[in-house]
Amino acid sequence: MGRRRKRRKKIVKKRTLPPRYFQCPRCGSMTLTVDFKKTDKLRIKRAIVRCGTCGLHCEFEVPEVLDRVDVYNKVVDLVYENRLEECMAAEEEGVEHGEAPGEAEEAIGGE
Ligand SMILES: [Zn+2]
Repeated sequence: MGRRRKRRKKIVKKRTLPPRYFQCPRCGSMTLTVDFKKTDKLRIKRAIVRCGTCGLHCEFEVPEVLDRVDVYNKVVDLVYENRLEECMAAEEEGVEHGEAPGEAEEAIGGE
């Protein structure tokens, strides 16, 4: 039986689901979300960060390997360094994001 072959050595991580909401570094509410969208660049994805309370919204491109927490940490840094506008500015370039909700989420799932 091919039983053995299927048994790949797997590093069993504790299955802690990545948190869906983060604490917003600007207003302190637990309503910050990080979503990802595919880009046409290789190994680059677009991170979309939004806060449902204060309206924080920024986007930037990150390496595909980053996950939500990494992006979140980036945003926290930006806010603390007062550089959030750097990524928020992208919004005003006339880019309309009319994507269907939830779509980006399925494209690149977390763990
Ligand atoms: Zn906020």
